[in-house]
Amino acid sequence: MTDKLSEIYMEMGISKTLADKGETILNSLENRFKAIDETAEYNQLKVLGAMQKARVSEGCLHGTTGYGYNDLGRDTLEEVYANIFHTEDALVRPQITCGTHALALALMSNLRPGDELLCPVGKPYDTLDEVIGIRPSIGSLAEYGISYRQVDLLPDGSFDLEGIKNAINEKTKLVEIQRSRGYATRPTLSVEKTGELISYIKSVKNDVICMVDNCYGEFVETIEPSDVGADMVVGSLIKNPGGGLSPIGGYIAGTSKCIENAAYRLTSPGLGKEVGASLHVLPNMYQGLFLAPTVTASALKSAIFASYMLEDMGVEVSPKASETRYDIIQEAILKSPDKLIAFCKGIQAAAPVDSYVTPEPWDMPGYDDQVIMAAGAFVSGSSIELSADGPLKEPYSVYFQGGITWPHGKFGILKACQCLLDS
Ligand SMILES: *Cc1c(COP(=O)(O)O)cnc(C)c1O
Repeated sequence: MTDKLSEIYMEMGISKTLADKGETILNSLENRFKAIDETAEYNQLKVLGAMQKARVSEGCLHGTTGYGYNDLGRDTLEEVYANIFHTEDALVRPQITCGTHALALALMSNLRPGDELLCPVGKPYDTLDEVIGIRPSIGSLAEYGISYRQVDLLPDGSFDLEGIKNAINEKTKLVEIQRSRGYATRPTLSVEKTGELISYIKSVKNDVICMVDNCYGEFVETIEPSDVGADMVVGSLIKNPGGGLSPIGGYIAGTSKCIENAAYRLTSPGLGKEVGASLHVLPNMYQGLFLAPTVTASALKSAIFASYMLEDMGVEVSPKASETRYDIIQEAILKSPDKLIAFCKGIQAAAPVDSYVTPEPWDMPGYDDQVIMAAGAFVSGSSIELSADGPLKEPYSVYFQGGITWPHGKFGILKACQCLLDS
């Protein structure tokens, strides 16, 4: 590290010892970073090719208002998503308010009373508890007479194939597979593993809809779950595919039938995809998608760097520093509420927006326990931007993600480590 760089790190509150430690660790990561850059290069061309194939034009960047009939930019963006995910169709809208909404929409539109939903990789993401009705809630799938079954992963993290086979019955209509770990201590699934599970499920029951919660997984690998048999992939535009620029939105990419169902549910029976003005968000959605492969790469580098720094400090991390990544989430098992809060304070202090505020645990809608969140983001709550959060419960894990530029991700981790050391 040059003296000049060292100096600005010190000015920004990072000790020379810690900054030097970071350099030593980085020197050993050259090959891993190179592999990440290669994936980003591949995905950059995939996205570019998808845009060119769909003939994205300057006119696509102009939005519509009101009903949004004949919204060229919206319809073309959906074609671009379908090209990227190699699906028949896609629904990509600012009217899909967040990831949970996209998932709820995919589920509610493709399930009917009397159907059963199966989660074969354990309990899904916390906010789906109320969607499914695991925790009673107004408007849940349970209220509409849609039943739910769950098969947990085996203790070693592998699929319980026997249990899954036994759980599939004549009512099983849709299987929801969550790729990322969410707030659970379990392995993230690679696309390849996800594909193996889908093949197995289809071998038991051929016509079951396989839906993948793809949150945090987009562009981490060169293939997506829809390349290995998923009928629907679902995610949030304030995570990877929004590239940090999309100010809102969610996507569902999948078969024509699944997307048609989703569109009629999102707007109204009879209207479907024909309405839904894109307002003024299309330039950000397009440009964010264009940036998404390299932004995801920055987030991945940040996660890997964090895991090595923390392991070095004696903190248990998951995935372990040396493990291959299938999403951008890094969990650190901090084992004390004070450390969890200190880590989040460090991330907040490293933010470009609201760096001077102190994050506090709060009762967040959709979550059972109090949650602490550090995010000083340009897009509120965006977790492709540098952010950290965790529920205040044993084992006091912090989930760290994002960093839309690698230098910022690196700085944020150093700052969080400095806060941990000082606490
Ligand atoms: C973030 C996330 C969700 C929910 O997305 P929100 O935009 O926060 O509603 C669902 N599943 C997984 C795996 C996630 O990471």
